[in-house]
Amino acid sequence: FFISFEGPDGAGKSTVLKQVMAQITPKLQTQYLVTREPGGSVIAEKIRKIILDPNNSKMAAKTEALLYAASRSQHMAEVIIPALKAGKLVVSDRFVDSSLAYQGAGRNLGIKEIKQINDFATSGIEPNLTIFLDIDPAVGLARIQKQRPNGEDRLEQEKLAFHKRVYGGYQKIKQLYPDRIKIVNANQPFGQVVADCI
Ligand code: C5P
Repeated sequence: FFISFEGPDGAGKSTVLKQVMAQITPKLQTQYLVTREPGGSVIAEKIRKIILDPNNSKMAAKTEALLYAASRSQHMAEVIIPALKAGKLVVSDRFVDSSLAYQGAGRNLGIKEIKQINDFATSGIEPNLTIFLDIDPAVGLARIQKQRPNGEDRLEQEKLAFHKRVYGGYQKIKQLYPDRIKIVNANQPFGQVVADCI
């Protein structure tokens, strides 16, 4: 079984995921694996560093999209597919939907186009369930600027317009895949957000 966590920057995704796992793992009957994207394996993390390096601000949008897909392909081959084959529960902090939203909508490359290169990278494997942490992009950005004022992530410094496009992308994705996406309001007290995910 494969679960992904998605959401705009500042939704609290990684912290919520950690707490959800802390609450569900004592009751789990199966082995599990928690991973993240971009990254999740040695080679995939190297690709992540290239993508998120602030010195690479000249990177073309298509290069970025292909590197995310390359990182994901490695992550699939080395980590996700073997774990699913072994019957483990796989939980990933971000997956293809992030590329559809950030590169497809945010960078205006097109959701359909990004889906195509990612289908190649993943061999079409999709999560069974996606938890989408829903937060207004302006609220999310304000949270991040408070938490990580000197963040190295170049994307954090990008304008609200980009994050609004990303959010719009997630709205479209929710319409495309209504059956696997569970929407959780992330603009609530932390405990409530975690409870709503479970
Ligand atoms: O989720 P996490 O904070 O680790 O993501 C790292 C950065 O990469 C974030 O700023 C996120 O906006 C960005 N990102 C992106 N495109 C993706 C996935 C993540 O721009 N496909």
